[in-house]
Amino acid sequence: MTRSDPEVLADAVLAGDRRALARAITLVESNRADHRSEADRLLERLLPESRESIRIGITGVPGVGKSTFIESFGIHVIGRGHKVAVLAIDPSSRRSGGSILGDKTRMEELSRNPDAFIRPSPAGETLGGVARRTREAMLVCEAAGFDVIVVETVGVGQSETAVADMTDLFLLLLLPGGGDELQGLKRGIVEMADIVLVNKDDGDFAPAAQRAASEYRAALHLLGAGSADWPVPVATCSALTGKGMDEAWQAVEVFRRTMTQTGALAARRAEQALAWMWSEIREGLVSSLRTDPDIARRLPDLEAEVATGRITPAAAARQVLRSFITRPT
Ligand code: GDP
Repeated sequence: MTRSDPEVLADAVLAGDRRALARAITLVESNRADHRSEADRLLERLLPESRESIRIGITGVPGVGKSTFIESFGIHVIGRGHKVAVLAIDPSSRRSGGSILGDKTRMEELSRNPDAFIRPSPAGETLGGVARRTREAMLVCEAAGFDVIVVETVGVGQSETAVADMTDLFLLLLLPGGGDELQGLKRGIVEMADIVLVNKDDGDFAPAAQRAASEYRAALHLLGAGSADWPVPVATCSALTGKGMDEAWQAVEVFRRTMTQTGALAARRAEQALAWMWSEIREGLVSSLRTDPDIARRLPDLEAEVATGRITPAAAARQVLRSFITRPT
């Protein structure tokens, strides 16, 4: 019996072959229908082999120091015996083609480290598309033996929710500014945070960073952030000097231990898996509906009727669904 390509690729990923890892991620990112079925076979083979991991989402406004932090934190964590994969979820990136590698200076040291793997966000995708591919890339990295997965996003828009929906822990980086910054971020983002770090606690910024941390601590307390089991810690760090990296990693480990003991981590992952399944169902249904020739023929008229108010959107939707669902296949 000959083995199929996805199986050969899966075995190479499991054996720790980095080029195979990159190829496997390219496969799951592909939009081609034949690639999709190969990607499904690949993931099926990889999934049972996924090792224990911690998935960390990192956000903060542009300039807060995310890439500097991920480099410094990543190298620290590798020093503690872990393997770190960095994925970006940033469909609207200003960076060249949405690529976190577009700017060569970003994470230079980490990108050269054999225990790190950095993968840019697929360019030109919608958030939904990026989220799906990032989730799958995460699974591939885990199967390849990476046990710390960092998913980076920018502190604006909806990508934070997408990242919170695919990670175990959400880490918010803040500048040593005043409360203005908390206002600049959507309030929901602050409420999603499991750990808050005020970056740039060095040199002239140090007093402001310390002051900001105590202000944020009070603000988060008032907001009732976190839970009884996990009151959100606020600390300072310097991605530039490496100060606070060990404390940040300790906080991640304590979070993991605490949430594992209470069962919250398993519950979060189970919930995420179900939400993922439903979003796949929704996307699958909508895309097969849109490509259905019969529906495609009727849609322009129906849309015109909705646009001109001759039929309600809900009634039009029901018509489409009824003809799609009740049709013999
Ligand atoms: P990102 O846009 O959030 O990814 O931010 P970058 O990592 O690109 O950093 C933005 C700027 O802040 C760069 O000029 C960094 O050198 C600087 N920076 C990052 N972290 C620190 C820090 O801990 N202290 C100081 N003083 N500067 C930092």
